[in-house]
This record gives sequence, C-alpha cells and structure tokens, in this order.
Amino acid sequence: MADEFPFELSPMFEGERIRKDSVYIELAGPKSKGFELVRAAEMDEVEDGGFTLIGPDISDMAEGDRYPFAMIYRIAGSAVEPDLEAIVERRNHDFQNYVSGLMHLNQRYDIWLRISKDAVAKGLNSFESIAKATMMLFKNELPFIEKMDVLYITDAEEIEKRLPEVKTIYETRDARTRDLHDDDVDTFYGCTLCQSFAPTNVCVVTPDRVSLCGAINWFDGRAAAKVDPEGPQFAIEKGECLDEVSGEYAGVNESAASLSQGEYSRIKLHSFFEYPHTSCGCFEVVGFYIPELDVIAWVDRDYAKPAPNGLTFANMAGQTGGGKQIVGFLGIGINYFRSPKFIAADGGWNRVGWMPKHLKDRVLDDIPGDIVDAIATEEDATDLDSLRAFLIDKKHPIVSGWKEKEAAKKKEKKKDAGVKEPDVSAAVAPEAMPAMSLPAGFVGSGSIGSGGGVRLILKNAKITIGQVIVKQDEDDD
Ligand code: SF4
Repeated sequence: MADEFPFELSPMFEGERIRKDSVYIELAGPKSKGFELVRAAEMDEVEDGGFTLIGPDISDMAEGDRYPFAMIYRIAGSAVEPDLEAIVERRNHDFQNYVSGLMHLNQRYDIWLRISKDAVAKGLNSFESIAKATMMLFKNELPFIEKMDVLYITDAEEIEKRLPEVKTIYETRDARTRDLHDDDVDTFYGCTLCQSFAPTNVCVVTPDRVSLCGAINWFDGRAAAKVDPEGPQFAIEKGECLDEVSGEYAGVNESAASLSQGEYSRIKLHSFFEYPHTSCGCFEVVGFYIPELDVIAWVDRDYAKPAPNGLTFANMAGQTGGGKQIVGFLGIGINYFRSPKFIAADGGWNRVGWMPKHLKDRVLDDIPGDIVDAIATEEDATDLDSLRAFLIDKKHPIVSGWKEKEAAKKKEKKKDAGVKEPDVSAAVAPEAMPAMSLPAGFVGSGSIGSGGGVRLILKNAKITIGQVIVKQDEDDD
C-alpha cells in the first residue's frame, strides 16, 4: 500500500485531527458547499476503478484556501441494490479517515474535509490517489461491490447545480420509514461505526428513531446487516418492552451493556433526560435543556450564532459528544423531529421552546398545529429574557407547568418547615422567573441559578484556576 499511494493508509489514522495551523486546504464544511453520494448502478454502466474530476485538483489549489467538494460513487454487483446506497455512503467517512493527513467529518451535505500540510509535502497532490485508495477499501471491505467508479467535483457551479437533486435523493430515503413504527417490528439495528471517535457510543436505529448522523434509517440498517452481518451495522432483538412511552427495551439494554463495555446498561430511545441515547459527535442537531424556563431547545450545525443560553452549536457539541449519556444535552438526526415518538417521555413538541428558523421551517409540517406558533426562533428571542416573554405571550404549555412546579415547590418547603399547608391553588404570576428543579443527573451548561442545594457534577472536566484568594470571613473569630 505504501508504494501505491503517496500516504499511509491504515485504520490507525481514524480519529486523526487536523488542527487549523496544520491545514493545507479545507474542503466543503460549514463555510462552503459539498456532499457525498453513493448510487447503485447496472454492471455495464460502471467503469471499474474509474476516476473523473470536475474542477481544480489539489496541485492547483492555494495553501490555506477553502474549496467546495463533492463525491459521487457508483456501485454495481449482483447483490447491489438501492437499499444499500446509504450504508455504503456512510463508510466513505470511515475509509477516508484511514488516509494519513486527511480528515473527513460528517455526512451527506454536511461533509467537511481537511488535508494537512504534511500530507501535501509528502506528495499528496491529486484527488485521484484519495479516490483510488477509497475505492480499494470499499471493495476489500464490502465484497458485494463488484464494480465501482467515482466522480469528484471541486467546481462551485457544478456542485450548486447538482445539490437540489441530491437533497431530493436524501429526502426520498428518509421518507421510507414514515409509515413504519417501533411497534411494527421485532428487530432494531445497531451501529458502532463511530466508536473510533467515541468508544462507548452505540447508535440504535429504529423505525421511529433515525441515526443521529441522519444517514442511516431502519431500512438501511436492515440492508447492511443482511449483506454484511459481521459489519458495523447489526440486528438488535427488541426483547421485552419495559416502557412503551420512553422506548425502553430489554434487548436494547443488553446490547448497550455489552457494546459500551459496561459504560451504561439502559437506553430509553425517546427520552431526553433519563437514560438518553448516547451522542457520538456526528449528530445533525443538538438539543439542550434550559433549566430557567424548563424547556428544551435545539440548534443545528448551520446556525453559527449563540442560542438563547449564550452557547453556540460548536460549544454545545463539545459537551454533548464522546459517546456518553449526557443528561441535559442530546444529539439527534433531523428526521427524528418527524417521529411520532419524538422525545415522548419528556413532553414531545410541548417541551420545545426554541429552534433556529431555517430548522423550524424544514420540519414545519411535522410540528403539531397547536404548538407551532409558540416555538420561538431567533426572530422572536435571542436570550433567556426575550424567550421567557415570548413563551408567556404565546401561552406556551410550559408556562402553566411553571405555575404548577412553583406551587409544588412552595408546598414542599412549607411541609419541610412544619407549617400547616395553605391552599396553593391560586395562580403564580408567570412573570416570576421560575427556579426549576433540575432533572436527575443534569450536567450544568453554566447557566444554573445560584439557589442553594444544587449539586454540580462535572464529568471529564478540566478546571484551570488562575488565582485563588483566601480571605478571612469578617464574622469569623
Ligand atoms: S452516528 Fe451512529 S449510525 Fe451514524 S455512522 Fe455513527 S455510529 Fe453509525
């Protein structure tokens, strides 16, 4: 291999990060355009090993610049069928990360690649070698692919022209699971492809829960497990249903325990707070709890500004990823918004308070009509005060929850103090900022109120203290 390509090629380079200072060129990503796509084709349509490039090659690109980038692979073989396209496409992430000096992130039209200065200095000056290495890995690892060719595009106009059709292909794939639900099947599918980045992550893909990368739905999992049962996608027998609303199943819990090496033993597929699904880092959208307002908000990769809690997608993605169950944050695929079981254990859409406008518009038809106008976007609220005012103004269902929780809290306090309980049915003014109790296990986002009795659990935290000043308390003797 070393002689064939001007770079090393090995799974040991998976997880290699190429930091800003080491980047020679950046391809696609949040500040540019691009996509990756796999299409099933007839045997006679594919020129095996064929490579075509539309646009400039690496040798024509200036150091430090950013370029649009798209990859279209065609696969053929007697066992190749359109059902396998998504699953083969997802392996592109895997295989391209085997290339030393190449970093591939995300999927579909969110792909983001970097080529390092070091790799270019060692002779990586053409996309052809990357394409040939990738196709070799595809054919070695997925023997049902008998023939394969690829078109890479770095021409901005060409990518722009093809994007609408490509997005329609993704949407058609996603729409397939609309009429199939968790209750209709006995088998879910697991995926461990991202364990190279997040060692304890196990994605569970069900008819009502698309993978958090958005690239694999239940049909894709089934097709992959059928052609490659020893591969990274595999069947999970549901087993006994332990809780229908939150989506807890004995079979999923067993798989979680063994595949996470004992890191966790319960997963509730449709829960935000209790035993949530793990988040590896490839999620399309991150959900975050706002304890001051008791709502859940969502932000996706395309929204670069801070959300109402003052944090950006990038800030929160760092806290959410890594393959852990982080209570208070959850990574999901966009299509999960369309699920009838969407965070069912925590109120579903009635618990959602904010999301970026372009994201809300994208799933508008799937938001229940009675809540749609009460969910704010950046046009309505950009911080907690304006969001609180919006929720009150729109009579968001959570506002009545504030009153109930406030009344329950007062009742509890008085009970603890041994005071006879008064009638607390009188309404609590919604203007009073509710001091919400945090869900069990909530790991703070840094904006928790200063009331006593809150225990902060910092997991995997690195704390740097610049200066410590110790002063004697004036009242102390
Ligand atoms: S995010 Fe999940 S489903 Fe998608 S590739 Fe990674 S492990 Fe597989």
